[in-house]
Amino acid sequence: MTKALDTSHLWMPFTANRQYKAKPRLMASASGMYYATDDGRKILDATAGLWCVNAGHCHPRIVEAVQKQVAIMDFAPTFQMGHAKAFEAATALAEMAPEGLNRIFFCNDGSEGVDTALKIALAYHRMRGDAGRTRLIGRERAYHGVGFGGIAVGGIAGNRKQFGPGLAADHLRHPLNIEKNAYSRGLPLHGAEIADELEQRLLALHDPSTVAAVIVEPLQGSTGVILPPKGYLEKIRAICDKHGILLIFDEVITGFGRLGTAFGADFFKVKPDMMVCAKGLTNATVPMGAVIVKQEIHDAFMDAAPADTIEFFHGYTYSGHPVAAAAAIATLEVYKEEQLFERAAEMSSYFEEAAHSLKGLPFVKDIRNLGLVCGIELEGITGKPGARAYDLFNKAFWYKGLLLRTTADVIALSPPLIINKAQVDEIFGSIADLLKAIK
Ligand code: PMP
Repeated sequence: MTKALDTSHLWMPFTANRQYKAKPRLMASASGMYYATDDGRKILDATAGLWCVNAGHCHPRIVEAVQKQVAIMDFAPTFQMGHAKAFEAATALAEMAPEGLNRIFFCNDGSEGVDTALKIALAYHRMRGDAGRTRLIGRERAYHGVGFGGIAVGGIAGNRKQFGPGLAADHLRHPLNIEKNAYSRGLPLHGAEIADELEQRLLALHDPSTVAAVIVEPLQGSTGVILPPKGYLEKIRAICDKHGILLIFDEVITGFGRLGTAFGADFFKVKPDMMVCAKGLTNATVPMGAVIVKQEIHDAFMDAAPADTIEFFHGYTYSGHPVAAAAAIATLEVYKEEQLFERAAEMSSYFEEAAHSLKGLPFVKDIRNLGLVCGIELEGITGKPGARAYDLFNKAFWYKGLLLRTTADVIALSPPLIINKAQVDEIFGSIADLLKAIK
């Protein structure tokens, strides 16, 4: 007889532990578009894990690169020394990034990436003798990870309130406007003017010369799929330029093909000063994050500090870890050779049609989509037993063999970029069945 699993020691992250430990979902293996559970059920992955397994699970080429590297060299420091794989991974990432964004600082995940980018912004201004630029601006409903910097610029009060005052940051309103934009396909048409709030805020509340950086997710994913209205990001860019403020794109979700282009910056044709990425960088085989920095910002550090001093007092033991670097190199090759970003772009119109076929079903209030991301906002189900989005997530998993994500009453979908049409049909067909069954 197999020994029963001891669930008493693990403190599960972002989890109602007392509820889930009774019967945790246990994944045992994964391949392509599917997980298999410990009891042998096949689960269609409609969320690419946590928005990260863009090339599909256990891609043989990436697995092989990881296995090979770990056997050759498990670890080498990258402080005052290095190894070829870290340099090669940086080159591959710089080549994929928009022109001019070509200096790479490696870290281990999105949270570290956000904190690193905020530190670069603050240090950059000081380097240039502009030390008064200390304010950071984020947005409501933004998710920028769980570091102290990330929760400050993030717009989720729940992620902050247990931890005391932390860092100060301002928050702009998010641009979701269901009344005007419900069921818009692709970019919403209305609401770019909400970006003007940045300028109003700067002039009314602050001296703009005290602001170091504005950080935005090109598309807000994990708080319910909030798309930027047409022209919105362009306005944010212009206001930052006008006032000498750095613009950081948090591309942790939008990076690596989610919108059918390498980065959200490519899709929106708006170039930030820094981009944070993680997740899809290694196809999630091994943790890795990166900040992709404009050359001028990097050069300002190099020019300001004497050559024999450390220009930027920051780094992680595992910055550029050899196994992660090997995974990143293989992953970026897979994206290119298998043309997965192009494939996502092609599949996105079929995905959009399938998503909008849910319009008119019970409780559906809005459907928002872009690339291979979709948010289905529900209303009127609060109080109906077993019918909140969160309950649908449970039902989808146990009865339909489907892995969804939900935030409040939004179902969020972000499948691996290798998804085929039958799998798209299965995802939306299962959600439709579940919604129709709510009494
Ligand atoms: N930024 C964004 C936009 C994210 O979606 C996430 C994770 N969902 C993070 C940062 C944090 O990344 P991590 O969990 O790897 O620290």
